Amino acid sequence: MDSQITRAFSPEEFRKNGHQLIDMLADHLSKNQSDDAMATLSWESPADQLRFWQDDFNSTRLDTPDELFKNVLSRSINLYSRNYAGHQVPPPAPAAVLGSLLSSFLNNGVAVYEMGMTGNALEKVVTEHLAHKFGYDDQASGFVTSGGTLGNLTALLTARAAVTDVWDHGYDQNNLAIMVSEESHYSVDRAGRIMGLGTEGIIKVPVNEKFQLRTDLLDEYLQKARSSGKTVFCIVGCACSTSTGAYDDLAAIGAFAAKNNIWFHVDGAHGAAAIYSPRHQYLLNGIERADSVIVDFHKMMMTPSLSTAVIYRQAKDSYKTFAQKAQYLWADQKKEEWHNSGKRTFECTKSMTILSVYTLMRMYGDELFKQNIEVLYSLATEFAALIRSKNNFELAYEPQSNIVCFRYSGGNAADDINKRILANLVTEGKYYIVNTILNDQFYLRTAIMNPLIRISDLAGLLERIEQTPL
Ligand SMILES: *Cc1c(COP(=O)(O)O)cnc(C)c1O
Repeated sequence: MDSQITRAFSPEEFRKNGHQLIDMLADHLSKNQSDDAMATLSWESPADQLRFWQDDFNSTRLDTPDELFKNVLSRSINLYSRNYAGHQVPPPAPAAVLGSLLSSFLNNGVAVYEMGMTGNALEKVVTEHLAHKFGYDDQASGFVTSGGTLGNLTALLTARAAVTDVWDHGYDQNNLAIMVSEESHYSVDRAGRIMGLGTEGIIKVPVNEKFQLRTDLLDEYLQKARSSGKTVFCIVGCACSTSTGAYDDLAAIGAFAAKNNIWFHVDGAHGAAAIYSPRHQYLLNGIERADSVIVDFHKMMMTPSLSTAVIYRQAKDSYKTFAQKAQYLWADQKKEEWHNSGKRTFECTKSMTILSVYTLMRMYGDELFKQNIEVLYSLATEFAALIRSKNNFELAYEPQSNIVCFRYSGGNAADDINKRILANLVTEGKYYIVNTILNDQFYLRTAIMNPLIRISDLAGLLERIEQTPL
């Protein structure tokens, strides 16, 4: 009997299968870049999809993974398609994917220095590079965590630790609260609830007609919270919001936070990468006042998921988040050691995801991220102009980023019509876009994530919508 272990670790099988996979992916890239664009989604019902994989699972064993990988590719949404403008997930730059492969191969965790020597150093280098761009001094630093959701939770926990001893003593009487825009990502609300703040502890500030937090209401909302016995320990600014891509006025929020001695956190998961563009970085004015910022590399910085920077203006704050003993991990529990990142992260084992963005930085420099932001944000502006020029479409707002919401206008029945349009697009599979609810109405939502998209592709989308049988 062949040893499956010998086979599983065979260098020759790995070489052969690896080359085959890379060839398949390079062909996929090149087909997506050719003139006859590929399908974005080969839609299948969940039941049919499940049946396919149940049958696959029960079929004869494979000699090579080639057929399996082909099936996965053809049964997955194609983010490299020029007709993909759905959720805020990019087609990762291929070099970042190679970094991710190397990281998987090495399987170096980052919690403990020896288990991830390179990873710990890269996290410090990259987060300090970003901190510098945001206008922080050399007191700033950060680390990487698995996604914006966890990043927001981590920063809010730090904010709480900065002003309370809930970590050690629990709540005797919970009077803590945060303030956020009502357009903030649901992960902020979820983090607050996980922290036990409850509905009343998450104070949602209304937005203006551009979907930005109304900073003129901040004083009033804070007074109201205080007079009902709440201690507001953190305010969150969106840069930008998920639904509409609106940037909050960070300078005003920062001034408010400083005046009232409240931790200022910026959720820059999607839009903080605009710092790379001299043309768009004004959107982030005031970010230099934030106590903490998160940035998702897997959104606007072209890497595979999940890889999120959590950056602190005062790096020493980050050691307060989890003041906990883990005897078997570190020799000295109390020491502030940047190189043992598990002291500051929620995760224990965590892969070296930083290698993806670091590879892009070393190969293409800031210029890549600048171009990506500028191409995507300009496409959104052009797309918005195109929507405005058609009288059967309605633009929800002037986009500040690469997120554009609109609808096919149709009076009272507009919600139903747009729902049908969306359902039709998804099952047809050529285009993929999503939806959102704005002012209680159903809108089509696009996040333009692929910098190889052309305005003609987006025009094609509008034409397809116009042709939908209603
Ligand atoms: C995507 C997003 C998040 C959540 O990040 P994940 O990486 O998906 O966990 C948080 N905030 C904003 C503004 C986002 O766009």
